[in-house]
Amino acid sequence: MKLHTINEEHFIIERINEFIRKQYSQLRNRKEIFKLPNKDSSVILLVSGGLDSILLWAYLILKYKLHVYPLYIASNLQSKQSIAQLESLFFYSDIYNKKYPKYHHDPYIVQHNWLFSFSNFKKRDKYSTHDLPLLVNNISHDDYYNSYALGVSGTPSRWFVYSYYGYEYALKLRYLSHITVNDIIFGVLAEDQEFLSESSLATLKSINLSLCLTLQDFKWRVYGANDKSIDFYLSKKDLLLFARSASINAKYTRSCGNNTSIHCGECPSCYARIKAYQTLKIPDPTIYLNKEKFRTNISQKFKTIILQYLRYTLSSLAKIKTFIMSKKIQSNTLIMIKSNIYAYETNKEFYIYNKNKGYIEELNESGSYLWKLIQENKKISMVELSNKLNKKYNISSKQSQQDTVAFLVNYANLGYLQFEK
Ligand SMILES: [Zn+2]
Repeated sequence: MKLHTINEEHFIIERINEFIRKQYSQLRNRKEIFKLPNKDSSVILLVSGGLDSILLWAYLILKYKLHVYPLYIASNLQSKQSIAQLESLFFYSDIYNKKYPKYHHDPYIVQHNWLFSFSNFKKRDKYSTHDLPLLVNNISHDDYYNSYALGVSGTPSRWFVYSYYGYEYALKLRYLSHITVNDIIFGVLAEDQEFLSESSLATLKSINLSLCLTLQDFKWRVYGANDKSIDFYLSKKDLLLFARSASINAKYTRSCGNNTSIHCGECPSCYARIKAYQTLKIPDPTIYLNKEKFRTNISQKFKTIILQYLRYTLSSLAKIKTFIMSKKIQSNTLIMIKSNIYAYETNKEFYIYNKNKGYIEELNESGSYLWKLIQENKKISMVELSNKLNKKYNISSKQSQQDTVAFLVNYANLGYLQFEK
């Protein structure tokens, strides 16, 4: 390996100094370090299919009239998370293609295999990305982790990797399609730097500098929507308001950081999404597997009391409803699935979806077994279901009858099933 000579080192350090001096003098003159490219220029936007990057895509088109080349980087294209992200990506790509045909370009997809990722790590909670020694104190409070520390992302080196993929994609566009791109934009928003070290302005500037130095080409610009100096400073709320004004429904964007088909409603990304809608006081159209965890989080004391009271009243009502319903179910009662109810199955999970109410429920093994029996038979009596459950799981007939009735009552109450005498 050839090492740098002292002269070369000296030359490099001089270039850094020159670069910094130039930027610093510009900063002192209150000029922009750089600005967003002129109308009709081309940029690369790193997209995840999430609310931020999907809306930023339209924002760059509408506000700045830029040709946006979205770049999606996946570690496992077969994972539930990737599939959900890609569904979102293609869904909005189709919409933008129709709405903004001049500036829309199809997303480019790259697979990158990480050697390590906290996101795939089973014991993520135990080895939290908030407990690492490299973390710095932060003046902003992170509501999700209830801490004043910045975290690292699930894949801590991803911004470096992404910036070089952005660069490679730009070369591909330049030499194979004769399109000049010097801007690599990350889907980073103003509030991201409150809890993620990768999203700070300094981090992005240093990645920009490292790219320029590595390539000895100072045309490259790497930035996100967290830069006040170029008036490119947006929060989730700004983007949601923009979406509303541009008639874009953000419902089908995918923010969740967990490997589930539907938004989990429990991870930091889901939390930020829920919070943005809550603070804007606009209805959140997203379907979450479990939003309970955050429902009381935002409430002030009196709200908590009201919620507790409501929950108590509702649970008493539910008990009464359950009691009445269970009395309705006889051995010969026929069970049917209501209209507008859909079921779908992944490798391990079985979900039922109530289209009228927007609810989703995950069924356990015996629950999905009962559901499939009802589905296959269209109409089936309670006693038949109970007998099959009894045989399949080898439990007492009393137990299987109790379980069957409990299942039927629960899903009838939730509006999934109906009975016929
Ligand atoms: Zn989530």
